[in-house]
Amino acid sequence: MKEDYYDILGIGKNASAAEIKKAYRKKAIEFHPDKNPGDAKAEEMFKKAAEAYEVLSDPNKKSRYDQYGHAAFEGGGGFGGGGMNMDDIFSQFGDIFGGAFGGGGFSGFSGFSGGGQRRSKGSNLRIRVKLNLEEIANGVEKTVKVKRKVQAEGVTYKTCGTCGGRGQVTKITNTILGRMQTAATCSACGGSGQIIDSKPSDADAQGLKVSEETVSINIPAGVEEGMQLKVPNKGNDAPGDGIPGDLLVAIETEEHPTLKREGDNLHYDLYISYSDAVLGTSKEIDTVGGKVRIKLEAGIQSGKILRLRGKGISSLSGYGSGDLLVHVNVWTPKELNKEQREFFERMQNNENFEPRPERSDKSFFEKVKDMFS
Ligand SMILES: [Zn+2]
Repeated sequence: MKEDYYDILGIGKNASAAEIKKAYRKKAIEFHPDKNPGDAKAEEMFKKAAEAYEVLSDPNKKSRYDQYGHAAFEGGGGFGGGGMNMDDIFSQFGDIFGGAFGGGGFSGFSGFSGGGQRRSKGSNLRIRVKLNLEEIANGVEKTVKVKRKVQAEGVTYKTCGTCGGRGQVTKITNTILGRMQTAATCSACGGSGQIIDSKPSDADAQGLKVSEETVSINIPAGVEEGMQLKVPNKGNDAPGDGIPGDLLVAIETEEHPTLKREGDNLHYDLYISYSDAVLGTSKEIDTVGGKVRIKLEAGIQSGKILRLRGKGISSLSGYGSGDLLVHVNVWTPKELNKEQREFFERMQNNENFEPRPERSDKSFFEKVKDMFS
């Protein structure tokens, strides 16, 4: 059972935005890795607090969390909460500590103005995954081959001579206000404080080599074209003791030959003959779960929409599914033989063939209105 975000920050459910921020600031300072070196428990608390704050500080995510709890973010593999790494957390700090940036108040902390080492992050990798409608409807696990840079074995490091292992270099400039001291990331080591001492021949200058890996991606039901999923830590490794980048997965969707998607609903155009409409019949139609036979009552009108509940796309939120809407179209023959022509001519002025729409035979516009309500 995942811990409650409010409990993690030690606040009540109706805490204001300012109180949430204040509570997180307190926790972040208390459990900051620089204050608790080598303390895995403190790091865990630090990450938990950051994740809680990420959700509770975002009105959108907060309302989903208040409504559904942790379930609001499950199955998303990178949507919403969860899976924060140190880089994400430090990037959050601009907002939290605001004026403290550059003020020197937190100079002992990594990731702040005062310098010190900061773990670097490897670059992200991007791939595209193409899904058909069946996969989108129910969610799917995709296995992909990814060429990612990983740390080569046998690479050894030594302290960077340029910065003396601090990861930052200090520059002194003369200005009209006097001598100014500014800190900049060391360009020789990229801020890690370490440089490669020796490496095997197949490793690049950063001590990395390309390796092909199989990554399985859990794609939730209900995704749409253009969405991006994040698989944490499956990007390129960072040199030294940095953390790997992420694998960013862009979703592409294949068109279905007969089913059209609209939100979580699907539409299917069914064409039936005049005789089928008059006499009634049953027809096979496509659904995302395979073919299904549906019954058409005698006297069914063209334009009728049959709703197959729950036969649409499972909602991305994880709650409920859309419907499959079958649009009935009666096909009017364009050519008739002599016998057929005579039949219809006889029926042309027959009282029984006169349109007499009932209240249940709603007009097209009323049906559309109904469909979206
Ligand atoms: Zn350096």
